[in-house]
Amino acid sequence: MRAALFYADQSISVQDVPEPKINADEALLRVEACGVCGTDLRIQSGDFLAECYPVLPGHEIAARVEAVGDEVSNVRPGDLVAVNPNMACGQCYACLRGKPHLCPEMRAIGVQLPGGFAEKLAAPARQLLVMPVNFPPEATALLEPTSCCLHGIDQAGLTPGDPTVITGGGSIGLILLQIAKHAGAAPLVLVEPIERKRQLAETLGADATIDPSSLSAETLARRVRELTDGGAQVVIEASGHPASAATVLDLVRSGGTVLFFGVQAPQFELDIKPFDIYHRELTITGAYTNPLTDSRARSLLVTGRVQVLPLITHRYALDNIASALEAVRRGETVKAVVIP
Ligand SMILES: [Zn+2]
Ligand SMILES: [Zn+2]
Repeated sequence: MRAALFYADQSISVQDVPEPKINADEALLRVEACGVCGTDLRIQSGDFLAECYPVLPGHEIAARVEAVGDEVSNVRPGDLVAVNPNMACGQCYACLRGKPHLCPEMRAIGVQLPGGFAEKLAAPARQLLVMPVNFPPEATALLEPTSCCLHGIDQAGLTPGDPTVITGGGSIGLILLQIAKHAGAAPLVLVEPIERKRQLAETLGADATIDPSSLSAETLARRVRELTDGGAQVVIEASGHPASAATVLDLVRSGGTVLFFGVQAPQFELDIKPFDIYHRELTITGAYTNPLTDSRARSLLVTGRVQVLPLITHRYALDNIASALEAVRRGETVKAVVIP
């Protein structure tokens, strides 16, 4: 089968490799679509999570079940499935406290284990979620990011009527926006420099959008205060840009919550005044991956509450995966998917 291998020198080679063999508790999957994510860029550039190269990334996977091992009963050949890539040990302190995403033993399909930038992969059947027969595979590939965004909204503690600001209108910002809308964010404001993404946000439910590119930090904060009647109760940083991270504490109102969702460089540091957190009773939190949120994400997608197909702007054959990563790195895409 064809598979995309990422090497330590940042090169990518699409080549013929042996088909995976399955264990008794696994399913053999034919990949129908696999989303390209910022994590894939980090794996390519070598600064995130991958243990040893070459690796076969791709963790936003929609696939058709081809065969199953003897012990598998939850999926059948022919099923369209979404893959939950994150596998925890199930036995440690974090796992037993219902926080499998904080498991120190966590390993992920498409990060440490072979992923979806290939024609086929083997995955434990317990990591699979069956989708309705006619559900689009491309939308199925976005179940994993939707599931992560849902965890983000949970972490933000958003309640109906909360004035909410999201900074960053990429695919993640636009999924967060839709879930925030359903959670009752009001008003809901998106901050994003690219016009096409602001337009998408308005179509998908933003009450207002702000182009921050020509605004000083003070002007941006004033615009947000005007639009939210004094500041946002919830601010979600979804761009992953240092400049945006530096503004979020000025956008939140006293008693509010700031959620860092966009992935920053691990070495990036931010100046924060503990006095502000004390005096304004701010909550600062994060959201990492998709703990136990897959079935709720499936409900949001299957009912059309969250629309992901309008976010897919670029489609690539597996052989052109290097161009897909380049386009994502240049910021040209809202969402790119690889169709093996
Ligand atoms: Zn991802
Ligand atoms: Zn564990």
